[in-house]
Amino acid sequence: MNRGKKETYSSGSALVWHFLRGSRKWFAGAILFATLVSLLDLVNPKIIGYTVDTVLGTTKTALPGFLQNFIDGLGGTAYLKANLWTVAIAVLLVALAGALCRFLFKLFNSIGAEKFVKTMRDELFEHILHLPFTWHSENHTGDIIQRCTSDVDQIKMFLSEQLTSLFRVIVLIILAMFFMFRMNVKLALASAVFIPIIVAYSYFFHSRIGKQFRIVDEKEGELSSVVQENLTGIRVVRAFGRESYEKSRFETSNDTYTNMWIRLLRLMAAFWSSSDLFSYAQILTVIAYGAYLCVNGDLTAGSYIAFITYSNMLMWPIRMLGRVISNLSRVGISVDRIMYIMNTEEEKDVPDAVEPDMDKDIVFDHVSYQYSNGTQDILNDVSFTVKKGTTVGILGGTGSGKSTLMYLLDRLYDLPEEDGKITIGGVDIRRIKREWIRKNIGMVLQEPYLFSRTLEENIRIARPTAEHQDVMRATHIAALDESIDHFNEGYDTFVGERGVTLSGGQKQRTAIAQMLIRKPEIMVFDDSLSAVDAETDAKIRAELKENVSESTVILIAHRITTLMDADLIIVMDQGRVVEEGNHEQLLAKNGIYRRIYDLQSQQSSVGEEAAA
Ligand code: ATP
Ligand code: MG
Repeated sequence: MNRGKKETYSSGSALVWHFLRGSRKWFAGAILFATLVSLLDLVNPKIIGYTVDTVLGTTKTALPGFLQNFIDGLGGTAYLKANLWTVAIAVLLVALAGALCRFLFKLFNSIGAEKFVKTMRDELFEHILHLPFTWHSENHTGDIIQRCTSDVDQIKMFLSEQLTSLFRVIVLIILAMFFMFRMNVKLALASAVFIPIIVAYSYFFHSRIGKQFRIVDEKEGELSSVVQENLTGIRVVRAFGRESYEKSRFETSNDTYTNMWIRLLRLMAAFWSSSDLFSYAQILTVIAYGAYLCVNGDLTAGSYIAFITYSNMLMWPIRMLGRVISNLSRVGISVDRIMYIMNTEEEKDVPDAVEPDMDKDIVFDHVSYQYSNGTQDILNDVSFTVKKGTTVGILGGTGSGKSTLMYLLDRLYDLPEEDGKITIGGVDIRRIKREWIRKNIGMVLQEPYLFSRTLEENIRIARPTAEHQDVMRATHIAALDESIDHFNEGYDTFVGERGVTLSGGQKQRTAIAQMLIRKPEIMVFDDSLSAVDAETDAKIRAELKENVSESTVILIAHRITTLMDADLIIVMDQGRVVEEGNHEQLLAKNGIYRRIYDLQSQQSSVGEEAAA
């Protein structure tokens, strides 16, 4: 499948808008109900104010026409005064409507938020799966995971808890101010003066809190990477008796993390207590100045009550406003961190990529290569041909570039235009679809990776539709069937995380079976027989020869006996091809190959003597 790159995001908001695809209507509903909640919240103080002034008192209050008509229809204020319960019912009804809207607001908001994160996680995961191998080797797994969890949650929380509330808060502040100014301009002004002060103060504090939050996040990341490393490397920790060292490393990290949290909580405590002061000052002003105006007859008792209620109602939202503004920058960082992933280009093929016949000669033509983070050439002008249907062995010291050659063949890394080319049947692999290459080249990687599933499921990974017969055939060729017979659960044996319950040789043979089940045209064994004994090695090679003789095979090994039967043997040293030929030719050359051969046969004869 060639997904290609769909789009790049020029800004964080474009990215968030994109992720909001499936949840926009829910959030729109949430905003609508949030606005209704604010409106309804503001109605009850007005009803109470009206009751005190007009129903119980004698002050006339101007009402909207429809409401006045309704009250007149009932029998005017006289009726209300005689039946005060009607007012109580009105208050109750408004409160009920408010509760219903609040419920719907929370419901819509939560559904929207969950749908939003789901879309985000799905897309991130799929995108990450399609990112180039290079990207994966350059980025830490822990960091990628943190971006996909903490940062995603951060954005979700901001959207669901703060952004939708923001609308409610703004509507609340505007409407409350509107009512207050209509009731009494002077008192409204006295109250309004505090708003910008509290918002600014809250913004200032939350910026600092935000910075501290970021530090806490980083420390959390460090702490979890210590844990992760120790859990995956538990065998090494045990084997080298490093428990106390690792424990103190963990404790140091844990201490820092705790201290950073304490600092953060101290900041928050300071903020809440100090901003309480401002808020109470605002309410106190309203109470004192309002009382003064009341006494002077400038304000009715009902309006006074409504004013105090409104001021109380505004206390929390105003502080929240500052917090939302300062959190914007914090959430911006999370969006950027996710944008970094989403804007990395997925692996893609050239537009006219082809799917040629792969049962052809493979030619490495003056291939040079250097990893993007390295300085020295890993491969230097490497040229050789793997004729179709033959077996080519590659021998070379560690680090001589053998695996790199295979990564290039599989297009896990891309060979730059000017650094030579690799062709299959004359077609430059840069022009072949990646998926096609990987489907037709069976690669047994040097470090096999098994999933924590059953043995059979692991073998089927490359071809889930395979019959059990195929699985059995593959395990037979890979000489794994005997081991499986010894397992209590047979093919259903659970291999544990990364295959911990298997021996090194069993893991390698599982990987071989995994590849064989696809019957690819080209097979690569990257040091895949290193962990099996010489006898099993010979057995597997004999089976391969008999069962898949028509495939082209590239066999990388350190043991000469593994590759001496190959049709052609390439000897590599420090990224160059230094010798090539078949076993006899290479022996006759009296070069590196001969030296290695002599050394290895000496060792094995010593071994045999010792065993005798
Ligand atoms: P071995 O026999 O030990 O498997 P090899 O011949 O397969 O060795 P390669 O794995 O191809 O060697 O590595 C060749 C060189 O490239 C090494 O020096 C290694 O340090 C370097 N190298 C390998 N992978 C990377 C990478 N992802 N980034 C940078 N350098 C790398
Ligand atoms: Mg290697």
